[in-house]
Amino acid sequence: MQALAKAELTNDPLERNKHLTFVVVGAGPTGVELAGAIGEMSRFTLSKDFRHIDSKQARIILIEAGSRILPMFSEQLSSRVMRDLDQLGVQAWMNSRVSEVSENGVETSGETISASTPLWAAGIKASPLGRESNISCDRVGRIEVEKDLSLESHSEVFVAGDQCRFADEQGRALPSVAPVAVQQGKHFAKMIRADLDDKPRSDFEYHDKGQMATIGRSRAIAETGKLKLTGFSAWMAWLLVHIYFLTGFRNRLFVIISWAWSFLTFRRGARLILNKDWESFSANDNQKDQAA
Ligand SMILES: Cc1cc2nc3c(=O)[nH]c(=O)nc-3n(C[C@H](O)[C@H](O)[C@H](O)COP(=O)(O)OP(=O)(O)OC[C@H]3O[C@@H](n4cnc5c(N)ncnc54)[C@H](O)[C@@H]3O)c2cc1C
Repeated sequence: MQALAKAELTNDPLERNKHLTFVVVGAGPTGVELAGAIGEMSRFTLSKDFRHIDSKQARIILIEAGSRILPMFSEQLSSRVMRDLDQLGVQAWMNSRVSEVSENGVETSGETISASTPLWAAGIKASPLGRESNISCDRVGRIEVEKDLSLESHSEVFVAGDQCRFADEQGRALPSVAPVAVQQGKHFAKMIRADLDDKPRSDFEYHDKGQMATIGRSRAIAETGKLKLTGFSAWMAWLLVHIYFLTGFRNRLFVIISWAWSFLTFRRGARLILNKDWESFSANDNQKDQAA
């Protein structure tokens, strides 16, 4: 919203283009959802809010180092998402590796994209706690654990979730997603109980129930076993799953009503920009206007 408001206020065409360019780095589920949401906002939700700019002209570039978006989904779903993103005005650049992100924009494979809003969706680092404790960690700082989720050097210490590197039978690390964290949390609670009851510990096993990603306001993809859903039906499945996992009837009801309201009205609540950077930006702009 700040970028669009800055584009609205400036008279410099190069500055305006910079503010109207959004670069999302990484085309996993987070990057795809983010790019789709910006496409939806600029094309529909905010399109009538500005007088000097056409927010539909916003350029949204999704950059991916690999050869296709959503590599964890099947190729069929990945190409369907490419089409959906295209309809929302998102350009997907494959085989492009971002080498630098600065306040001027993003550098990729010898090209500089002038953009005031670069968004990083190419993965996170774990908390430095593991490295600081001199425990064996992987490249992104996740702590390597034994099969029961305990530390090799301290069997009374367990690690779960994004902080944990657990290798599956093929030696691949489990992804840093909520279902892994939830299942690991439950597992180590069981292990603590087993210790208290003097029973043997068991190995952790991850049950992958499938994966989903949304694209804009009414499209998604979902894959569980051989079942593949796309479009509106996948989006409905996404809504149901997310509402089901909320705790308490009151929360579920509140979220259903609030989502239904946003969906039907295209409204996104109060659109207020409340931070110090913005105060100084708009103050400078007012001074320029007065001087002019
Ligand atoms: C943008 C984004 C989108 C995502 N979308 C999805 C999705 O759609 N589906 C999905 O399954 N997963 C998604 N994930 C991943 C998911 O959020 C994580 O895998 C999950 O939250 C991991 O749970 P956790 O409990 O291990 O860590 P967290 O949920 O990160 O909780 C860790 C907590 O520990 C606190 N903490 C950190 N260091 C310390 C310290 N030294 N002392 C005390 N407290 C500390 C943190 O503040 C935090 O509250 C997404 C992640 C991101 C960043």
